[in-house]
Amino acid sequence: MDPEHSLGRPLLTEQALTGQIDLHCHSTASDGILSPTALVSRAKSAGVTLLALTDHDTVAGIDEAEAEARAQGLTLLPGIELTALWGRRVVHIVGLNVDRRATALVQAIRLRDQLRRERAQQIAERLEKRGFAGALAGARALAGEGVIGRPHFARWMVEAGYVSDSGKAFKRYLGAGKIGDVAVPWPDMVETISAIRSAGGAAVLAHPLKYGLTRTKLRALLVDFCAAAGDAVEVVCGQQNPVQTREILSLLDQVRAPAAGPRGPLLASLGSDFHQPDQPWRALGCVRLPAGVEPVWNLWQTDANQIQ
Ligand code: AMP
Ligand code: MN
Ligand code: MN
Ligand code: MN
Repeated sequence: MDPEHSLGRPLLTEQALTGQIDLHCHSTASDGILSPTALVSRAKSAGVTLLALTDHDTVAGIDEAEAEARAQGLTLLPGIELTALWGRRVVHIVGLNVDRRATALVQAIRLRDQLRRERAQQIAERLEKRGFAGALAGARALAGEGVIGRPHFARWMVEAGYVSDSGKAFKRYLGAGKIGDVAVPWPDMVETISAIRSAGGAAVLAHPLKYGLTRTKLRALLVDFCAAAGDAVEVVCGQQNPVQTREILSLLDQVRAPAAGPRGPLLASLGSDFHQPDQPWRALGCVRLPAGVEPVWNLWQTDANQIQ
């Protein structure tokens, strides 16, 4: 392991690894429905002993989540899900165990905050032109103090009676190629990985099958991710069947030998990508890694042999 890199802080207690582990979920600090407190409390009820809160482009929910985690006796890893570009494609990079005061991370967040505000205005202008009056005020009200995103527009459209559910709002107005799909100059993946690692965190490629990439493109993404010193890939995330899990494992095998990055083979992460109780995503804490992969949390184990 790179000795100058400060991964390993804090070390995990043995107790943290005794129950369910969920390293990807959202609160009201971004597009989740539950407050950080309610989220942690729900995780505890689901048997989670190690949880990472990974809100989109913000760490604003972490203090509250940490306080509740202390009260409930579970381990909380400070995390984030950063929006980034790989070429012209949007990818999500999860940062785990980040120092949220690190300058590189603070800057990464500030930049995205600005981009998200500008994008929200553009989305609203486009929607309003199509007759959806009040879109910006409506989405902002639903975002509250949290980071604004397309799901807030989707929920507003549901509340206003324009569509019956958020999925339809994405399908018709907000998803890829629709009017609300505004191109944003998000920072690129290499810079994003570097910001996470400068903040002492592990950089994890989120939900690799969610980008609509062909196998060949996905392999190229993984090779670039390795080369940029990415640490891990979500082998299990959100709604995913076992066939898809095997597909990711097979891709990892393919990039392992020729393209092992500066930090060696990619590690495996997992998460529910939980946003709300009645979601089509996986339930909070209901995730398990397949056998034969090295978990990302080995980076924060006490036994130094486990991180070789
Ligand atoms: P944004 O970060 O604002 O670009 O919005 C992306 C978020 O929208 C994702 O993190 C999901 O929470 C949500 N999302 C993406 N696609 C869909 C969909 N088809 N239906 C419902 N929610 C979606
Ligand atoms: Mn989301
Ligand atoms: Mn995501
Ligand atoms: Mn997510």
